[in-house]
Amino acid sequence: MIESASVGTALLPHNAPPSFHVLAKPTGAICNLDCKYCFFLSKEMLYPGSRFRMADDLLEQYIKQLIEGQRAQEIVVAWQGGEPTLMGLDFFKRSLAYEQKYLPPGKTILNTIQTNGTLLDEEWCAFFKANNFLVGLSLDGPRELHDAYRVDKGGAPTFDKVMRAAQLLQEYSVDFNILCTVHAANQNQPLEVYRFFRDEVKTQYIQFIPIIERATPELLPIANEGWGDAHHVRPLYVLDGSLVTDRSVTSEAWGDFLMAVFDEWVRHDVGDVFVQMFDAALASWVGLPSSLCIFAETCGNALALEHNGDLYSCDHFVEPKFKLGNIKQDLMIELVASERQRAFGNAKRDTLPKYCRECAVKFACHGECPRNRFIRTPPSAEYPNGEEGLNYLCAGYKAFFTHIDEPMRFMARELQLNRAPSNVRRYMAEKDASFARAFAQAGRNDPCPCGSGRKVKHCHGKTAQYHERSK
Ligand code: SF4
Ligand code: SF4
Repeated sequence: MIESASVGTALLPHNAPPSFHVLAKPTGAICNLDCKYCFFLSKEMLYPGSRFRMADDLLEQYIKQLIEGQRAQEIVVAWQGGEPTLMGLDFFKRSLAYEQKYLPPGKTILNTIQTNGTLLDEEWCAFFKANNFLVGLSLDGPRELHDAYRVDKGGAPTFDKVMRAAQLLQEYSVDFNILCTVHAANQNQPLEVYRFFRDEVKTQYIQFIPIIERATPELLPIANEGWGDAHHVRPLYVLDGSLVTDRSVTSEAWGDFLMAVFDEWVRHDVGDVFVQMFDAALASWVGLPSSLCIFAETCGNALALEHNGDLYSCDHFVEPKFKLGNIKQDLMIELVASERQRAFGNAKRDTLPKYCRECAVKFACHGECPRNRFIRTPPSAEYPNGEEGLNYLCAGYKAFFTHIDEPMRFMARELQLNRAPSNVRRYMAEKDASFARAFAQAGRNDPCPCGSGRKVKHCHGKTAQYHERSK
């Protein structure tokens, strides 16, 4: 057991990172919904017989260690699940009391919670507002797209409950963002999804996350059934196999989705709507380290805490072989700073295939998250069978980062000149107008004004004809 739990920042291990992020799961994998793509539901099998409720003494120990392990001025207390609101409000009130007890002068705390929203009511929203919580609300788009996979334990749709939560959060002026997963059901409707969030939910903050459920050939048929406890035979999800379920987004569709949303955003919404991935990309174009671990060169500072104190290398690696220890026996900061965890984070850079190391958009992508690196690179003279470890989403990311280069360069330049990146909207409008003029003057056999090198009739001419036909 921890004796003098007081670490004090002066006594932190020498290789402790300046700050680290922990996603804490007070109910473990337990959730009141049964979203079909949520492989995390199967992690319940890691703790047979557990009550799946974080005990009060562990809560206090966690908050204390989290605060004492950080050099940074602002400390983030992040709750996630499963569904964390199943713990009830009192749990979070106690958490705030421990924060007050252990927070030293001069430091601040930001509380965040990721929720499916179905249990939120006036009392929850008043609590969030009074305590400045930042709430992440899971919503996958308009009704049919959301309800395709996000269902309750009885298989019933959840859209109305989530929309009610969004409305309540707005009524109480709670800061919230939408977390939208992109999967087979909504991957081909990027604009419908984005405009719904912007125009109907009226949110300013949006995150898109790709659904990729890996499986081996043996497990694929069972994995396609879903991961919830409604399925009498279900495997424990582990990062294994190079196949994906039918619900998973395809690499090309992911790239197309991001490009379509970006094209809308960059023309109309920069400065008004914040899409997490686009902000992270802009940082890369400015030459700053990415704010998203998936696009950083190395990682290892975003860990996951289970309801019983087990600490894992990352929320996506809650598997026995990635368990670092238990914070009831080991100081959390020592686990965070351990050689093992540093090696986990550095492996993101050190295992990058040559194909990535030579990629023109590596500065923005960095091979994305290691959890998705399970395909082979295209064959080359050096690697006739391709190299292992390429990201499943590579084709999509390559297309996306290449596509956004010009407007990103423009925005980065504006920032360097202390001007607003939102000037890009005017830049894009002028560019579109000049393209429209050039296009109007070009013959079908002329080079396309877009610069593709193809003839108009094989490039945008084809698109224009298509649009005319479909009117
Ligand atoms: S494994 Fe992926 S999600 Fe986890 S910290 Fe590294 S980049 Fe981030
Ligand atoms: S776009 Fe593809 S090749 Fe380039 S860094 Fe990303 S994963 Fe690697």
